[in-house]
Amino acid sequence: MTQVSFPALRMRRLRRTPLIRELVREVRLDRSNLIQPIFVEEGLKTEVGILSMPGQRRQSPGTVGREVGRLVDKGVKSVILFGIPTVKDEIGSAAYDPNGIVQRTICDLKARFDDELVVLTDVCMCQYTIHGHCGLVNEERIDNDKTLPKLAEVAVSHAQAGADIVAPSAMIDGQVKTIRQALDDSGFKDVAVMAYAAKHASSFFGPFRDAASSTPKFGDRRTYQMDYSNPEQALREIALDIKEGADMIMIKPALAYLDIVYRAKKRFQMPTAAYNVSGEFSMIKAAAREGWIDEKSAILEVLTSIKRAGADMILTYHALEAAEWLD
Ligand SMILES: [Zn+2]
Repeated sequence: MTQVSFPALRMRRLRRTPLIRELVREVRLDRSNLIQPIFVEEGLKTEVGILSMPGQRRQSPGTVGREVGRLVDKGVKSVILFGIPTVKDEIGSAAYDPNGIVQRTICDLKARFDDELVVLTDVCMCQYTIHGHCGLVNEERIDNDKTLPKLAEVAVSHAQAGADIVAPSAMIDGQVKTIRQALDDSGFKDVAVMAYAAKHASSFFGPFRDAASSTPKFGDRRTYQMDYSNPEQALREIALDIKEGADMIMIKPALAYLDIVYRAKKRFQMPTAAYNVSGEFSMIKAAAREGWIDEKSAILEVLTSIKRAGADMILTYHALEAAEWLD
């Protein structure tokens, strides 16, 4: 630490001009670290706006390629796919149908963009089950161990379609291990796993459920998603997923969880992602719409704060607009 103090030391010297400020900037946002979530709905004829997420749309099989093309053109080269099937059932069959909406979309995107695009997929059951829970249900309880082979089937079907990275989000114990094993057994040793390692039962998921039609029909997700009051437990969850073979870890949501992002990065030094979720997105949009905050500067500030906390990658609905603003 410097021994010099005021008046010899003046911190403001390095804030004097925009170029000097840029020269000494410690944390920089980069388009290549942004991952845009994409909702694609089976049977849709054209894209449809999502009311609670201004500017975001559910894509149809016919429009998703164009939408992803816009992102790629702007330098956002990673997307995570969420599917909305036409038919839901008790066991979420559409989630692992080789001909399902996500599987077909992966094929289309890979045919179109090949390695110019990183395709991540959300591996879960909630958009595909009638009850809207993330696993198989037995007498209104989520059956952990019976869900595992189903999640493995989903992941393998995504790998078969060409996914680069699968991202299990169900918060079912043992899911990373089971999926890693199934991928390896099926010849997909190079498909990476991004674990939703610390996914919290959060009120900030509200608009997403609107977007993905995945609100649980009974109960809530607190028997599998984490209690947000438990930071030590979050670190244990992350440690377990790393031990089970996760290549990358994710903390979700991001903004109310920056302490977890910071601690996870410091402790594990893994490729770390944070999911800047729908509620975080919609709050900014709503406040900006009212004229209460400046949208652009608020978004860049939020994304920078997530990176500053230690996230290497940010899953965010702001990816496209942020990419347009970044140099
Ligand atoms: Zn789920």
